[in-house]
Amino acid sequence: MFIVMQRQATPEQVKTVRDDIQRIGFRPFINPGVERKVIAVLGELDAKKAALLEHFYSFPGVERVDLISHLWKLASREYHPSDSVFDIAGIKIGGEAIAVIAGPCSVESEAQIIEVAEKVKAEGAQFLRGGAFKPRTSPYAFQGLGEDGLKFLAKAGEVTGLPIVTEVMDTADVELVASYANVLQIGTRNMQNYSLLKRVGQTGKPVILKRGQGCKIRDLIMSAEYMMAEGNEKVILCERGITTFEDSTRNTTDINAIPVLKHWTHLPIILDPSHATGDWRYVASVSRAAVAAGADGLLIEVHNNPKHALCDGAQSLRPEQFKDLMEQLSRVSQAVGRTL
Ligand code: PEP
Ligand code: MN
Repeated sequence: MFIVMQRQATPEQVKTVRDDIQRIGFRPFINPGVERKVIAVLGELDAKKAALLEHFYSFPGVERVDLISHLWKLASREYHPSDSVFDIAGIKIGGEAIAVIAGPCSVESEAQIIEVAEKVKAEGAQFLRGGAFKPRTSPYAFQGLGEDGLKFLAKAGEVTGLPIVTEVMDTADVELVASYANVLQIGTRNMQNYSLLKRVGQTGKPVILKRGQGCKIRDLIMSAEYMMAEGNEKVILCERGITTFEDSTRNTTDINAIPVLKHWTHLPIILDPSHATGDWRYVASVSRAAVAAGADGLLIEVHNNPKHALCDGAQSLRPEQFKDLMEQLSRVSQAVGRTL
C-alpha cells in the first residue's frame, strides 16, 4: 500500500503519517530525492490492519491511499515516479550521462589490474571492475585471488581515482568485500540468494544486481526489492543475457529488458555485453544497441592480454578496442540525447 501525500504536505504532516504507520505495526518507507512524498507501507496486510489503514484518508496532508496490485513496491514507479540517480563517489549513475564500468573479469595481479585501470580510465571509463571472488562453473577453474585481489583492486582504484566494483558471492564475505568496494556486485548465479541479498541490503552500499540466467524480469525486480526492503535504495539492475535455445552466443541479450525495466521501475539499468554475448566481436554492437535502447550504463570486460586471461578472455576487449568503442558510444549517446 502507498500513501500519496499532497504536494504541499509539510514535513510534520509526513512525520505524523509515518509515526502512525509504525504504531499500527507496519514499516514506512519514504521515497528519497523526490519532491512529492509517497510513503510505502510494508508488512503483511490482514483484514483488520487493512481496515485500520483506511483512517489515513483523514490525516492532514494525505492526498490518497493506494492499494497496489503488483509485488514490488519500493522499486516501483508509483513509489518513486522519477528515475533514480545515485551519486557514487561523485559519479552519477541513472541520470543523463551513461556510466561505463570497465575492467578485467578477474583481478590476476597488482600489475595487471593497475595497467588495465590506467588504460580504461584514459578512454573515459568511470568505474573499474574486477572480480576477486569468482563464481566459476568448474571447481577446478581459477577461483579468484580473494582478499589479495581486493587489495590490488583498491590499489588500482587509488592510483587512477576510479571507484571500484567487485562481486560478493557469500554472506560470510560481505563485510570484507564492502570494506574495499565502492559498489558491490551480485552475480547472475546469486540473484535469488535471498540471504545474500538481505545481507548486502543491510550494508547500504550501492549494488549492481545481475539478472539470473534463467530468471524473468519480474524476478530481478523482486530481488532488488529484497535489498531495498533492508533500507538500501541504491540498487542498479544489470541485464547480462539469459539462457535460451540459441547457442551461437554464450547467452542471449534481452534488449527488451531495458525498456520494460524502465517502465516498471525507477532504478538505473545497465547492460553487460561481455557476458551477454561471450564473444569480443559482438561486444561493440550490443553496447551500441543498449545505449540506443535507453540503458544508463555498460559493464564491459577489458583485458590487457585477453589470450592469456585467467577468465573470460574470449569476451574481453583489448584496450585499443575499448577506445574505439568509447568513440562509437559517444556518438550514439549524443544521438539519443545522453552524454558519455
Ligand atoms: C562477471 O561479471 O564477471 C560475472 C561473473 O558475471 P555473471 O554473474 O553475469 O556471470
Ligand atoms: Mn566474467
